[in-house]
Amino acid sequence: MLKCDYLVVGSGFSGSVLAERIASELKRDVIIIEKRNHIGGNSYDEYDENGILIHRYGPHIFHTNDKNIVDYLSQFTDWYEYEHRVLAFSKGDYYPLPINRTTINKVFKKNFSTDEEVKNFLEQIREERNPVLNSEDIIVSQVGWELFDKFFRHYTKKQWNLEPRFLSPGICGRIKVRTDDDDRYFQDKYQIMPKEGFSKLFERMLDNKRIKIILNKDFKDLLHQINYRFIIYTGPIDYYFDYKFGKLTYRSIHFDFRNYKQASYQPASVVNYVDPEVPFTRVTEYKKITFQNSSTTTLSFEYPNSNGEPLYPILIDENLRKLRFYMDLAEKEKNLILCGRLAEFKYYDMHQAVGRALNIFEKLISTL
Ligand code: UDP
Repeated sequence: MLKCDYLVVGSGFSGSVLAERIASELKRDVIIIEKRNHIGGNSYDEYDENGILIHRYGPHIFHTNDKNIVDYLSQFTDWYEYEHRVLAFSKGDYYPLPINRTTINKVFKKNFSTDEEVKNFLEQIREERNPVLNSEDIIVSQVGWELFDKFFRHYTKKQWNLEPRFLSPGICGRIKVRTDDDDRYFQDKYQIMPKEGFSKLFERMLDNKRIKIILNKDFKDLLHQINYRFIIYTGPIDYYFDYKFGKLTYRSIHFDFRNYKQASYQPASVVNYVDPEVPFTRVTEYKKITFQNSSTTTLSFEYPNSNGEPLYPILIDENLRKLRFYMDLAEKEKNLILCGRLAEFKYYDMHQAVGRALNIFEKLISTL
């Protein structure tokens, strides 16, 4: 029989941060059960056979406004500065994304040079949507139908297999419309990436004699062999409860990695293919994120699907209804802590997952 105070299921940011805090601050024993053959969850990165650092589960770009989160993670990594830029490719042309002044000038063949002009123009083309109930409303009410149709409608359909009008406003609303010419994907104060990659960060985070990691195991197969006081679960919440109230749906992606014998492939780290005829959504060129020098380049082409590893919770009413039943059940299990994108069914970014785990840790110590 194995024994620990805290059993952590999953070793992504949520599970790893909590394991680290509990081991180093509370000095309690932790066992992590990870079903994959590596730690780090979807933030895992590795060198491919061409020596290029890739993100196995698609591009993970760190950004936050929260200094506490940066300070916390800085214990486990140095950083380099990286400002992410994305181009949308449509009908033979590249456009900056999020939509900004340059995008609008190019689409509408305008020559706006001030925020004011762009604001006035958007005022003419936007459609009033009140209340804003979904991802179509949030975009159309800011920029009108034409820009929505070009940049959001088909990409979203490919990504989620749903029209934007069926998705929560927060999904397309993640991409903030701009009236200036800032072409960075994020505007956060800290736009930095771990110097030696995410996997190294995780290795250091979990390098603690109080943390034991078991890879390649489903937690359900081991539960009866472990004596624990609390369980911190970061996997899909419906799976934890044996799908008692039915399955929640998650979106997945097949990442098709390709190496080309050329130094550079595309004009930005990420190009989004927003037209419906192209079957993939985005193409990431990893060396443009890491600034690696190499005569070849590795890319990932993303093909969304519904039956692979759960990557994105699908935020639609039916799921949110079921989720409430699962959450009620979870409340009743006094030794269960749910944390993270899959367990809480929330579209957390990396910094939000770290922030959430740190908050849960604070709550946890306040109840001891
Ligand atoms: N989106 C879109 N067109 C784009 C980029 C994003 O319609 O070119 C929508 C799409 O629904 C996507 C959401 O906005 O799922 C959020 O995009 P983000 O880039 O934040 O997605 P992530 O990086 O989390 O996959």
